[in-house]
Order: sequence, then structure tokens, then C-alpha cells
Amino acid sequence: MEKKIAEAAARLKKCRHVVALTGAGISVESGIPDFRSAGGLWEKYDPSEYAHIDAFYRKPNQVWQMLSDMYELLHPAKPNPAHLALADMERDGVLKEIITQNIDSLHQKAGNTRVIEFHGHFRTLKCESCGARKKTEEISVEELPPLCAKCGRAMRPEIVFFGEGIPPKAYEDAMQAVSLCDGLIIIGTSAVVAPASYLPGIARDRGAFILEVNLETTPLSRKIVDLHIGGSAGSILPLLVEAIRG
Ligand code: NAD
Repeated sequence: MEKKIAEAAARLKKCRHVVALTGAGISVESGIPDFRSAGGLWEKYDPSEYAHIDAFYRKPNQVWQMLSDMYELLHPAKPNPAHLALADMERDGVLKEIITQNIDSLHQKAGNTRVIEFHGHFRTLKCESCGARKKTEEISVEELPPLCAKCGRAMRPEIVFFGEGIPPKAYEDAMQAVSLCDGLIIIGTSAVVAPASYLPGIARDRGAFILEVNLETTPLSRKIVDLHIGGSAGSILPLLVEAIRG
């Protein structure tokens, strides 16, 4: 492990544009289980019934039960050592930007300033009818689903539901990031959710060094990853920061 961290640090130090791609795994040590695992949200809620945009349009009350449970998990969570290490890397001038599939805002809470939210975020709600927005923290569980003050429609969080496209600006920024980078650190993602799963291949085709930090191997590990470090993001990333500084 020490050898791998030293090798990763040496390779990253030579890069001019390092990007991180993060997934649910980086936030597990902040107390947010990944949704697929035992005890995750999809054990209680079938995603096709609760996480698809058509379900939201058909049954907003039902979908808001799941969204409310999701928000209760996300809202109190604090950045863990993995998030803080990525913020250090940005401050040190090593990391240029993060593409995250997470909707928990923990990279921003840790201090990263350049975060591309590929699947949106839960900070605000939007009315699809009139475009009105509201801070999610302003709603109360007694008034679910939250209704638009102007037109009375059920509001939605600005996350990407299954069946929806990636927000165009996030998509464009992420494509540009993986096209420009010469180092990509993939952290805590199973890399099975498209189109995020295509991003590492684009970086690879441009000749970038690909590092993966994950408890397990993933479909990417053997195909495109140059170096896989097995272990928890919260233990590995702080060591990586130290090794890059040293
Ligand atoms: P995933 O659940 O498919 O995969 C999680 C990956 O993280 C797995 O490969 C697992 O081995 C790894 N992992 C778990 N704990 C880890 C740790 N401590 N350190 C390192 N690796 C660890 O996640 P995904 O690929 O991000 O796809 C799930 C989708 O669900 C994403 O679109 C994401 O937006 C969403 N999601 C978001 C959150 C969040 O915002 N925190 C939480 C759950 C799911």
C-alpha cells in the first residue's frame, strides 16, 4: 500500500491538470450509505417506483417520502478525511476540479471551489411549472410535498432523477475536464451509472494517468486504470496528500 501511494504521488506530481471523479463511496465515511448496499435507500424504496422522474410526476407524495428520508441522511452529514484531503489538494494547486456524482454538497462543505455536480444537488428545490426556487432547508416534514408558493405545483429537488438527462452545463464542464486532464483520480464509484461511467475512458483515450481508490475492484480496474489502491478513501487520500507534499 505505501509503495502504491508513493507511486501515485510521483505520477500525480508530474501532471499539470489533475481531476477527481467521485461517487457514493467517498461519502460512506460521512455516514451516508451507498444506496445499493444492504441498509441503503434502495432496500427500502424500489428505485423504479421512487427515483424515476415519471414516478415523481405521477405520485409526488409517494416520491417525497423517499426524498425526505434521503434529505435526512444528507443534510446533517459532514465532510470526512477523504473530502478534506481533496480540498487540501485543491489548495496545494494539485487538483484542478472535481466531477462528483454525489448530491450531498460535501465537497463544497470541505472547501473545494471547483465542483461539477454531474447529478445535480439537493440544496434547492425547483417548480417545473414556473421555475420558482426555494432552499431545501426551508421546508418542513409536515408540509410534504413542498408546494410552489406561486402556482401550487409540487416542487422537486435539483437532483437528476432516473430517466432525466445530465444538466447541460455540468455535462459540458465534465467533458471538458476529462478531455483536458492528464491525471484522473477515481474515488468510490462503481462506475456502472452511465453516462458518468464513460468519463474515465475519455481521459484514458487522451493519455491521462488513471488512479482508482476503492474498497473493491470495479469494471474500470482492469480495463483502463493504471493504478488501483484498495482501501477506504478516508484512510488513503490523506496519505496521498502527504506523499505529494513530501
Ligand atoms: P455506487 O453505490 O454504485 O458505488 C459505490 C462504490 O464506492 C463501490 O464501488 C464501493 O466499493 C465504493 N466504496 C464504498 N465505500 C467506500 C470507501 N469508504 N472508500 C472507497 N470506496 C468505497 O456509487 P456510484 O458509482 O456513485 O453510483 C451511485 C449513484 O447514486 C450515483 O449517481 C450517486 O449520485 C448516487 N448516490 C449519491 C450519494 C451521495 O450523494 N452521497 C449516495 C448514494 C448514491
